[in-house]
Amino acid sequence: MSQLVRISAVIDEKDQQIEKLRTELSRLRNWDAFVSEVEIKEIDNGKFAYALREPANEVESKLLYCATCFAEERKSILQMDESWADIYICFACKTELKTPSTHAKPTAQIRVRRTRWMDDYR
Ligand SMILES: [Zn+2]
Repeated sequence: MSQLVRISAVIDEKDQQIEKLRTELSRLRNWDAFVSEVEIKEIDNGKFAYALREPANEVESKLLYCATCFAEERKSILQMDESWADIYICFACKTELKTPSTHAKPTAQIRVRRTRWMDDYR
């Protein structure tokens, strides 16, 4: 192998390393930006999740991020269980957070269920 070919191979390897580091740097910058936008919140006695400090709209004000995934630098939104309105689930790590139903935000879904129930008895 000529010296030129060897130098070229070394340069290619370094280029690949630089690209990997750029990708990792971008990921870390995005994560740091997210970390600065959220704060830990106690959603029930001893049960924590992250929420946006300054939500831009009503939907964002309802977002809760899984604390378990957060510790692993993963952004995962907790979802309200469809059958149990007082349980939040993280589909990434399967964490379940049961909250008192008074904490469950009234949703359109709950109102629809009540309407259907009332329709059955008309
Ligand atoms: Zn999770």
